[in-house]
Amino acid sequence: MKKIALLYNQELEKYKYAEYHPLKRERIIYTMQKIKKYSKGAYDNFIVNPASIEEMSLYHDADYIKYLYETENDKTKYIPKKYEIGTTDNPYFKGIFSTSSIHIGAVNLAADLIVKENYTDAFYFPGGLHHAKKNYAWGFCFVNDPVYAILRLLNYKKRVLYIDVDAHFCDGVADAFRNDPRNKKDLLILSFHESGDFLFPGEGYIEEKSSINFPLYPGTDDYTYLLNFTKVFNYVFDKFRPDVLVVQIGADSSKFDILSHLNLSLKGYLNIIKIINEKKANKIWLGGGGYNNKFTSCAWSSAFRLVLGDIKVGDIKHNIKDQRAFSYAKENYNFLIRNIF
Ligand SMILES: [Zn+2]
Repeated sequence: MKKIALLYNQELEKYKYAEYHPLKRERIIYTMQKIKKYSKGAYDNFIVNPASIEEMSLYHDADYIKYLYETENDKTKYIPKKYEIGTTDNPYFKGIFSTSSIHIGAVNLAADLIVKENYTDAFYFPGGLHHAKKNYAWGFCFVNDPVYAILRLLNYKKRVLYIDVDAHFCDGVADAFRNDPRNKKDLLILSFHESGDFLFPGEGYIEEKSSINFPLYPGTDDYTYLLNFTKVFNYVFDKFRPDVLVVQIGADSSKFDILSHLNLSLKGYLNIIKIINEKKANKIWLGGGGYNNKFTSCAWSSAFRLVLGDIKVGDIKHNIKDQRAFSYAKENYNFLIRNIF
């Protein structure tokens, strides 16, 4: 029997990045509206409390967190480009600290619900900010909530598999655990993403040792993605046998996304969710990227309803739309399976 938690705090709706910025609060607002309107299965709502400055400094540098706090409360403290804040990607905005403290508070609560309250699934759609670095903002992300989710679970002595299906490589998460002795022992990081040759952050190559990376060629379609994802994810899951999955379900791998060049349909995307959902392990689900508000809110609310058991998704067709992307993935699969573990 599933026990599902949905975490949120409407305070987040008060704040937005710069007007031009592709990361929009609407995708989250629409997701939550659709969930409220259409969900039939049982779940519990939780209003997230912000984390304290001390809790926020567990991974990020205390000076960096202090700067977020000070600049939100006194704009005269803001220095353009300091800690990469005030760049085109990472604009300075009102709520820079408040939103960050909610994101970290949310994943701490998610881990507590899973470990102490027997929840099987905890969702936090505004999270999944997988690029933020230890002491600077990066790739639209100011704090790295997936890192906090993983750290809390590791502290509870859980074996954690982090899976990231965002179109972009999770460089912030990989950096956080690159030299951590628990990586590859109690933690595995698995990322499917568009190759760094074509997309930010220009990393996540298959030879990388600190995470299991599966780069995809632009144009990768449902069939190529799922053929490889199913085999690699099943292999990794069965070998590693995690207690908890932390899943970043960025929806920017869709064919409607304005930033990436992957070619997934809604059905393809939901098949990824289905495969992950079928595994017997507890799960923390985090949002991530997604720059088409309509697709993202539809994909995430549908993912939630799929986990609730409200909806089912049919299998995708055996149809290779892009031969070059198929061959690229095949070569990567052959390399990975020879070198994994
Ligand atoms: Zn992304």
